[in-house]
Amino acid sequence: QAPAARTRIYTIRVVPLGDANKLLVSLDVTDARRVESMRSTFVANVSHELRTPLTVVRGFLEYFTDDGVVDGEQRQQFARLMSDQTARMLTLVDDLLTLSRLEAEDAPASEEDVDMANLLAQLQAEGKSLSDGRHRLDVNCLGPALRGNRKELHSAFGNLVSNAIRYTPAGGEIAIEWAMHEGVGVFSVRDSGVGVAAEHLPRLTERFYRVDRGRSRDTGGTGLGLAIVKHILLRHQASLSIDSEVGAGSTFRAAFPDWRLPAAK
Ligand code: ADP
Repeated sequence: QAPAARTRIYTIRVVPLGDANKLLVSLDVTDARRVESMRSTFVANVSHELRTPLTVVRGFLEYFTDDGVVDGEQRQQFARLMSDQTARMLTLVDDLLTLSRLEAEDAPASEEDVDMANLLAQLQAEGKSLSDGRHRLDVNCLGPALRGNRKELHSAFGNLVSNAIRYTPAGGEIAIEWAMHEGVGVFSVRDSGVGVAAEHLPRLTERFYRVDRGRSRDTGGTGLGLAIVKHILLRHQASLSIDSEVGAGSTFRAAFPDWRLPAAK
């Protein structure tokens, strides 16, 4: 459990000064404790996330080692299930690597004027393939080029689109838009999906924070997507805001400062 935000923790050290004199030193260790607590929570989360699929794979492997216990058809079915679990572990490890890379450097390695019409077309194609015809996808590019790292922006926006699809039941609508609002560049993804209750909103971008663990896992979520989005937006001096209503849908907005929109001037 991390210490409460306003509590401070002190440790007292006794320094002997000879002749039975002692110096008492009080050290504020609040930040060190907090970092340590976050680190151990993170390690526990990663271990748990990897342990579950590994246990499934090991369970199925046992059938294969006893010769003749599984027939050809079962063999195929088990192999498919093991392959799914392995893919899940790979996605998790890839997301972890992305996060640690983002945390290690302060700014993107390179920046360019990103053609947003082209990026939105790519997001639309990827969204279509993920949705597989289950949703209506509306895409609108009304703003200028955006100065930033294309690969990182693609990853952040792609995460928002894939969340919209994964948390919206079949038949729902998803609207992706890039537009100027009062001098600010706003990328938004609106969905008509399950929505998020207000009490969860402040914690949504924490690593491994999920409103519904089961649903997130069933749809292939690692629980790291919005943490990655938050880091990428921070590196681009952009802010993230979320409007949501349970059962009605959500809108995720990323707002970029005007100096990232050189063509708008
Ligand atoms: P996950 O891999 O679990 O989707 P994310 O970090 O991308 O991880 O999202 C964290 C949580 O935020 C999700 O588990 C889900 O509960 C909630 N969430 C994210 N996007 C949406 C959305 N568009 N609609 C409803 N809930 C969402």
